[in-house]
Amino acid sequence: MDIQIPFDNSYVRLPAEFFARQAPAPVSAPALIAVNRELADELGIVLGDGAELAQIFAGNLLPDGAEPIAQAYAGHQFGGFSPQLGDGRALLLGEVVDQQGTRRDIQLKGSGQTPFSRAGDGRAWLGPVLREYVLSEAMHALGIPTTRALAAVATGDLVYRQEGGLPGAVLTRVAASHLRVGTFQYFAARQNVDALRQLFDYARARHYPEAVTPGDLLRAVIERQAALVAKWMGVGFIHGVMNTDNTSISGETIDYGPCAFMDSFDPQTVYSSIDRNGRYSYANQAQVIVWNMAQLATALVPLMPDQDDAIAEFTEAVHAMPEIIEAEWLRVFGAKIGLAAPDEADRELIVDLLRVMHEGGADFTNTFRTLARGEAEGEFDDPAAFGAWYERWQLRLANEDGWRPRMDAVNPAIIPRNHRIEQMIASAVAGDYAPFHRLMDVLSRPYEDQLDAMELTQPPNPQEVVRQTFCGT
Ligand code: AMP
Ligand code: MG
Repeated sequence: MDIQIPFDNSYVRLPAEFFARQAPAPVSAPALIAVNRELADELGIVLGDGAELAQIFAGNLLPDGAEPIAQAYAGHQFGGFSPQLGDGRALLLGEVVDQQGTRRDIQLKGSGQTPFSRAGDGRAWLGPVLREYVLSEAMHALGIPTTRALAAVATGDLVYRQEGGLPGAVLTRVAASHLRVGTFQYFAARQNVDALRQLFDYARARHYPEAVTPGDLLRAVIERQAALVAKWMGVGFIHGVMNTDNTSISGETIDYGPCAFMDSFDPQTVYSSIDRNGRYSYANQAQVIVWNMAQLATALVPLMPDQDDAIAEFTEAVHAMPEIIEAEWLRVFGAKIGLAAPDEADRELIVDLLRVMHEGGADFTNTFRTLARGEAEGEFDDPAAFGAWYERWQLRLANEDGWRPRMDAVNPAIIPRNHRIEQMIASAVAGDYAPFHRLMDVLSRPYEDQLDAMELTQPPNPQEVVRQTFCGT
């Protein structure tokens, strides 16, 4: 075989109740859409001459050393607990240790049914596969922890969804791990304390070697998740399905379903078609992540010798989280307006800008990007309200050095706008992958002004606006 993936698999060595062994289900006519050569290098993967890549990343051919498994997990979905979810359309092929020495999972998504598929077909269609490919790589280029995309393959088979028969595809996803809050919940719900302890040991060794106790692990995950959600908010990202099975222990963004970056700023923004109550709206993310961490805390309690002490310690950790998020948020948004060390007095300045943006229908990304150039006024319906804020900001900047490069380094010129993603998917379905490749290219340099890509920086015109996105099923 030409391709060489230096597998070093650990999850499959855990006890049998952690997963089910499952081979991918072959597809009719695999065709390679994209392979991420830079990421392959980082992972120590030798891709070879390319002849087998479509077969490999479709699941038709197993690379040497792969030991495919579907992982077991549970999760709270929109607040309701499902004791058994698991990989219903994904398979972990195995792990590699990358050039930094970090263990990474290599997973096929859309590779057929598994024992956890329930009523699902185990497949994915092209739209969600390309959406995840572009958004996860864009997120990485923005400097935000995320799973990555290694490859996308069209299967040549149709996948049947509400809309009818759609072209099938498989995504190869790379993650620091696929351990979720829901993985802990899976064993806690079964009162399987032995497995829970093995999971704890595994998670700690893999992600938080400095953590000794379950409380240490909880506090470490809380820190990473607080930082992650603040970073999402800083780029106007709405995850859309922050269920506990989509909340990773490593602190990476995972599961790009109905997610989107917002255009004009409105904290109540929701895109997901299934999120009718706005549980996972832009602004609610900061509260929902605390709720999700409370679920992790609950799942860790059985590991503790004294339940009352455990509850007291974990409650304190969870209650401390909003303050950690606030501090991260202040750092993120402080930098967005050029402040190296924002303090509590600056919080009001930021909140006021966001209010003027909301009232003025301002585009989130373009307002922050043009602010440093003194050109943001055009973003506002009412330039006077913005003008008053601008005066205050100028006064605050008077004793701030290097604010402009600081702002340009954190305020992207370009994000994957929803209407462009939808247009890219429509083109791909029609057989034209040029918009996909162009988005991938431009989004790899989000903090640069790219004069030949100005059309991709513009918000949608009224006919182009996308108000709803759908789950990646
Ligand atoms: P998600 O909303 O993508 O996080 O998925 C939630 C659960 O539904 C997971 O257990 C998935 O494996 C499962 N699932 C989603 N789509 C499918 C599908 N097409 N076939 C089988 N299982 C699926
Ligand atoms: Mg999921």
